[in-house]
Amino acid sequence: MKTIGVLGGMSWESTESYYRLLNEGVRERLGGHHSARIVMISVDFAEIEALQRAGDWVAAGRQLAEAARRVEAAGADCLLLATNTMHRVAPAISAAIDIPLLHIADGTGERLMAAGIERVGLLGTRFTMEQDFYRGRLAERYGVTCLVPDAPKRDQVHRIIFEELVQGVISDVSRQNYRSIVASLEADGAQAIILGCTEISLLLRPKDCDLPLYDTTALHVAMGLEYALRSV
Ligand code: GLU
Repeated sequence: MKTIGVLGGMSWESTESYYRLLNEGVRERLGGHHSARIVMISVDFAEIEALQRAGDWVAAGRQLAEAARRVEAAGADCLLLATNTMHRVAPAISAAIDIPLLHIADGTGERLMAAGIERVGLLGTRFTMEQDFYRGRLAERYGVTCLVPDAPKRDQVHRIIFEELVQGVISDVSRQNYRSIVASLEADGAQAIILGCTEISLLLRPKDCDLPLYDTTALHVAMGLEYALRSV
């Protein structure tokens, strides 16, 4: 089994899910007392969040590239950057390391393409919903068109992520809010929904929605497991 590198803390509420899901996946595949080989660096999210708000992606990229180098130096064979948003700086991180960065959008794009889904609703931070680094990759590589909520609804999705989910607050009111936004994306023609923020699966479960949910946290973990166990 190879060693999976995780660059987490963005936020730790979802990094905790990565740690659990990676270990559950290895136990499922190998049984007995097996568990995942993991190297993790968990950053202080306050620093990253401030750089996001300032739009200083260059500094954020530099900081995460440095952290990724430490993950590699500690013995990781691949890297999972445990956040959708910070894939905005994936090129800077990839350039700084010799191990592969397993891009979070690829795990989801491959599954969408295999399922024949071409129009999908995307929920995530404002950065993920509005900028091109994520939607562009899904369109170019997988032929998937992302529909996003209108501006007031994007504000709500973003606010709930930063004021609640990354702080460990899970609220029924916000779940209802997300459900109605999912319904509006369905009315716009979405065939499925990407939970394009690693904390959303803490709030929204498959039973909450009629449309299939593509949970980027679980699909990213599956990529890591596939890489680590390929030769076992
Ligand atoms: N974990 C989130 C994501 O997947 C949001 C936190 C962040 O801005 O990195 O985008």
